[in-house]
Amino acid sequence: MNGSAHSAALPRRLLPAACALLVACAAADAAAKAPAKKPAWKPKPAPVVRTADGLSVSSKYRSPRNTQRRPRKTTRFIVLHTTEGAAKGSLEKLSANGECHYVVDTDGTLYLIVDKKLVAFHAGLSMWDGKTDLDGCSIGIEIVGRHDKEITAAQYATLRKLLSELKRTYEIPDRNVLTHSMVAYGNANHWHKYRHRGRKRCGMLLASPSARAKLGLQPGPSFDPDVKAGRLRNADPELARILYAKSAAVAAAPAPKGGAPAKTSAPAAPAPPAAPPRVQAVAKPAPESNVIGPGRSAWDIARDRYDDASTVYTFPNGRRKTGAEITSKEWRTMPAGTVVEVDAAGSAPENGNEGLLTIGVDGTADGLAGDAIASQSTFYFPEGKPYRTGATMSLSEIESLPSGTRMLVGYKAVGPVSPKRPVFSLCGVAWNRGDTYYWDPARRTLRPGDEITERTIPKDAMVFVRKD
Ligand SMILES: [Zn+2]
Repeated sequence: MNGSAHSAALPRRLLPAACALLVACAAADAAAKAPAKKPAWKPKPAPVVRTADGLSVSSKYRSPRNTQRRPRKTTRFIVLHTTEGAAKGSLEKLSANGECHYVVDTDGTLYLIVDKKLVAFHAGLSMWDGKTDLDGCSIGIEIVGRHDKEITAAQYATLRKLLSELKRTYEIPDRNVLTHSMVAYGNANHWHKYRHRGRKRCGMLLASPSARAKLGLQPGPSFDPDVKAGRLRNADPELARILYAKSAAVAAAPAPKGGAPAKTSAPAAPAPPAAPPRVQAVAKPAPESNVIGPGRSAWDIARDRYDDASTVYTFPNGRRKTGAEITSKEWRTMPAGTVVEVDAAGSAPENGNEGLLTIGVDGTADGLAGDAIASQSTFYFPEGKPYRTGATMSLSEIESLPSGTRMLVGYKAVGPVSPKRPVFSLCGVAWNRGDTYYWDPARRTLRPGDEITERTIPKDAMVFVRKD
């Protein structure tokens, strides 16, 4: 249940958002309803709230994006992430962009980022069992740490309590507590000419049976339903081995080989001797080299950040380039011995690529849009020129767009705004969200919805809203 039905008519900023802390706190609610005549003095929310399970939640990094986010219609999954960076920078960035619901620091401190009822942008391009856009139906928890390192005892303790509370609140079964690496997928790129699993290794080790046991969770899924169904192909066998192979050993029944068992009237052949379940030692990831060589590509090392401006390539001849500067041809001829530094500046987002993107800063058009590069829902905004959709451009036109060109992926254009068609009638409460954009046709500029008021909507503005 959520408040969307009656709250849709209200501007989101008027809602008592503080009440969406772990446990709806009646005290805060009452405070919000207290005489609202003198808004000059704003009571600051208490920085720490204690939940029913005795868990302390700090709101020190509560995201300013809370006012722009819509409530989720359903909550079916919990997605676990690793920040891949230190606490402070990760907290600041996750808060600024509203990219998860909770962060668990190495000392076990729990931070609330986005209120648990609202949508946080944490999963990016994602799919599980045919369901896409997991942001719309999941809670995202970031754990400060790395995908290939064990987390701390204090983190296990906090996370276990938090999961217990969330599972109870939303009636989420253990099998729907997943890692980001399980649900993230990538569009076709230079290395994989198909939609693939393996875009991220985020949260990888949290899928291990030992980690799940410490978190009070039953063993996870024993196979990838989307790979099995052919919706995706597996581009990272080692990741799949870590996520699933060991679960097969403890699964009650072996999975049928080669898809559904064929119904046949032929006499039953004697059953082949059942292969003894191969009990594998818990899969340990191989050390991850950051040098390109036989069997190790830029994609293997940097994943979906291979063409980020924050990823730096040092070639054997000493020359350096960022991922955003490398051409299509150079990807194919990258020499062995090239050293790849992901997040060389130490500040790149783990999730990233949400909302407005910039060619040459966030990556190339190809890398950012994947197989949506020439789609009707991809929009390009070359500086000082009219915008165009990918569907009206040739690939060579798109690839020659100058660095600095902005783009939106997975959007639809509604409008233009006119006296007969006010913006609220075009896109409802999305009108002032930070991930909604206004195109001013006279000035040829783009502004986010959270910088727009009813008075500053540009004349004849075209409005770009996320496709849901
Ligand atoms: Zn993640």
